[in-house]
Amino acid sequence: MGYPLDGPKVALVGVPAVNFEVRRCGDNAVVFSGKLGAAQADKNSGDTVQAADFSALRQPGRYYLQVPGVGRSWDFSVGGKVYEHAYSMAMRGFYGQRCGMAVNMAPEFPGYSHPACHLHGKFDPSSGVKGRRDNIGGWHDAGDYGRYMVNSGITAGTLMWTWELFGKKIQNISLDIPESGNGTPDILNETRWGLKWMLQMQDTDGGAWSKQTSTHFSGFIAPDKDKLPSVVIGTGKPPYKSTCATADLAAVGAIAARVYQPYDAQFAAQALAAARRAWAWTEKYPDVTFRNPAGITTGEYADASCRDERLWAAAELWRTTGEAQYNDYFLKNYAAYLPGLDKPPAENWSLVGPMGLWTYAMAARKGTDPEAVAAIRARTVQAARAIVERTRANPYRVSMQAKDYVWGSNGVAANYGVYLLIANRFQPDPSLVDAARDNLHYLLGRNTFSLSWVTQLGEHPFLHPHHRPSAARGGAPWPGLLSGGPNAHRADPVAALLPMDLPPAKVYTDQTGSFSTNEICINWQASLVFLLAGELQ
Ligand SMILES: [Zn+2]
Repeated sequence: MGYPLDGPKVALVGVPAVNFEVRRCGDNAVVFSGKLGAAQADKNSGDTVQAADFSALRQPGRYYLQVPGVGRSWDFSVGGKVYEHAYSMAMRGFYGQRCGMAVNMAPEFPGYSHPACHLHGKFDPSSGVKGRRDNIGGWHDAGDYGRYMVNSGITAGTLMWTWELFGKKIQNISLDIPESGNGTPDILNETRWGLKWMLQMQDTDGGAWSKQTSTHFSGFIAPDKDKLPSVVIGTGKPPYKSTCATADLAAVGAIAARVYQPYDAQFAAQALAAARRAWAWTEKYPDVTFRNPAGITTGEYADASCRDERLWAAAELWRTTGEAQYNDYFLKNYAAYLPGLDKPPAENWSLVGPMGLWTYAMAARKGTDPEAVAAIRARTVQAARAIVERTRANPYRVSMQAKDYVWGSNGVAANYGVYLLIANRFQPDPSLVDAARDNLHYLLGRNTFSLSWVTQLGEHPFLHPHHRPSAARGGAPWPGLLSGGPNAHRADPVAALLPMDLPPAKVYTDQTGSFSTNEICINWQASLVFLLAGELQ
């Protein structure tokens, strides 16, 4: 897709060659020429690649690589604002996932629209309640039309952190969504759509039900055509709500109380009140885990422990309120989660311990324990430096290891970026930002497939996401959405047909049916947004 003007500019050539040229689009003038680096064998992909380093090129423009005896690359940009459009497309990807309202991606993407969907709902017997419950709003989670508290939690949390860490860089980027221009930054406008749905999932006793979906996945139809009953689903036995969902609600409610305060004080207060009630519920029920009740086959987001969700909630509530009870809980429980920082990227929807640790270390509140903060910072920075070394040594300049090619591996790559940028917040160092950007390059095209894993972004984007609105529409997919990426576990019938001897980074197929390698999902979408915002110049 492109390279920021400042910093390293490295392309990779997968066919043996000696020299390379960078040529300007339009007049084909040679603006840089050089020798390719030594051939490096990459175990994860099976490729042998050579680096074309043109970091010294500092003239903004549109270019391509010409390699004598090999050919020419896709066109790419070098410039100061190379990620702005990518950031806005990735955030608008959330708008495209909105449930409960008419969505229209025009004028940039005319014809990508749907009328309001999923406007009616009711309680499933597993929720412990009877009757109608609409809960309009939220984001369709992934390729399906379900809405899940746990996944919305990590997603909304990551988006609000994006605002807290990189607000200055993104505050003036309009997303061209219905709320644009209302005085609230657009990333917060978009995130509020997800949060408002989460608040509706809270019961009067403070607990939150796990999800609202149909009982089984719909066919590959447009969202407004999905008429399967949308039901609020609980655990099937008292207390019906679950601890992970409720603790995640407490965590994001506490963040919302901070970030919306200057723009929407009423919403901030509502979110904080919900967070407090949710926290209190988890004190009463610290270990109610969720599994699909009988007759429910939509996504499970099963998590064996909700203690890390509680740690995150306590840390966010402490950071927001400064009240001793939350600090006490955090300090009694945080140490067990420190070793998790040694195994980056460490955080995902089921493991939010690092979120708890990092937000505590960023709290800067009187009464925050300096030893805890020092330990969190030191371990994060140390692990991040190891990632930098590994990324530099990797032939594809990506932080990924063979074991990382799991379901949602592109989210793993993005979360390495998140980890590196958090470390950079603790101890600024350009090498951390560069390594984070290397993972972004991987997602946007510098990979074994020479493929951008964001729909309609870059010169050669993937085309067939496991995504119902895209499949129902036909043609190019809905824009701005990140594929799950290679998955060595080939956990779907389409991926199972790929050759058995493929190395892990190659176990990917751009087909709608391959949900284990090519589904889009809001949690890795949020990590992409964080990474893009962090890399804005
Ligand atoms: Zn919907």
